[in-house]
Amino acid sequence: MSKSPADLVRPEVLALEAYHVPPARGMVKLDAMENPYALPPDVARRLGERLAAVAVNRYPDPTAAGVKTRLRETMGIPENLDLVLGNGSDEVLQMIAMALARPGAVALSLEPSFAMYRLCAIACGLRYEGVPLRADFTLDELALIAAIQRLRPALTWISYPNNPTGNLFARDAILRAVEASPGLVVVDEAYYPFSGGATLLDEVGRHRNLLLVRTVSKMGLAGLRLGLAIGPREWTEQLEKLRLPYNVGALPAAAAELLLGERAVLEAQTAAIVAERARLEAALDAIGGIRRYPSAANFVLVRVPDAPRAFEALRLRGILVRNFHRSHPLLEHCLRLTVGTPEENGKLLEALVPAIA
Ligand code: PMP
Repeated sequence: MSKSPADLVRPEVLALEAYHVPPARGMVKLDAMENPYALPPDVARRLGERLAAVAVNRYPDPTAAGVKTRLRETMGIPENLDLVLGNGSDEVLQMIAMALARPGAVALSLEPSFAMYRLCAIACGLRYEGVPLRADFTLDELALIAAIQRLRPALTWISYPNNPTGNLFARDAILRAVEASPGLVVVDEAYYPFSGGATLLDEVGRHRNLLLVRTVSKMGLAGLRLGLAIGPREWTEQLEKLRLPYNVGALPAAAAELLLGERAVLEAQTAAIVAERARLEAALDAIGGIRRYPSAANFVLVRVPDAPRAFEALRLRGILVRNFHRSHPLLEHCLRLTVGTPEENGKLLEALVPAIA
């Protein structure tokens, strides 16, 4: 008789919980940091024509040269740096963890931060350790440097801006952590479009152990699943060995090539989100009982008197946000609100007042 999965699967995998995506049909969806704006009809029509011309009987171009060129132009990536593409930046994070999972190796992340850092590390067989942020979610530089010196991590993840707190850590402190690290430091700039230009791209290539991760997801193209690592060739050539040959499909590649060329459309949508973020922040500050944290991303973290109750009251009114209560001690009674359209944010604000009463 064959053994059960519980006898065969690695114990650390048995102990994991799958990344949970709640059902959202018919809801005002403010839980996943998506751009709320659809493509303008003329762009959607051109996209349809372009996709119809893709040879879907063939495997995609394994070098994805066209998409890479577009990404370089869009993100201003210099020629001396190389790119590795992933099926979303999630897959890039996984490739990095796979590459560094020597027996006994440690992966380090700040906490609270993006859940996939821990998940990828453990799934790939790394030992995972977290360094808590301060209570106001700023980076505790001394604690981070001490953890790096004590644990000598092969891999340290830093989300810049940080998810789910929304803030940017001090740039100098990150660079000092890079200098202090024997291992690779991965700065994940998924929320770069909303950071007001804050980036460590100019530092990549100047430090042997610094890699940057970006994505097109928060630029309004989450459905395409396209992310990238940006770094010196000595790192990218190792990651290329772990990238599955056709990980970016021909349709997403063609769509990204076309849509990244629609710079004005994407930038106008991003600017609208940033403007709405300011409006949402001001309105949240005017509601008594809510503590609102500063954001350089397309979401705002708030602390309310009773997060499970507020989450449920919002859900009953058709609004889906993300409840972080009980996910980490620093996130007691915290909700993460993705910035939506003015109309969606209006609905959220209207429902929030009775939800926290
Ligand atoms: N990094 C961070 C910090 C994120 O918050 C997310 C998505 N929420 C990702 C990476 C993954 O994004 P994607 O796979 O869509 O590129």
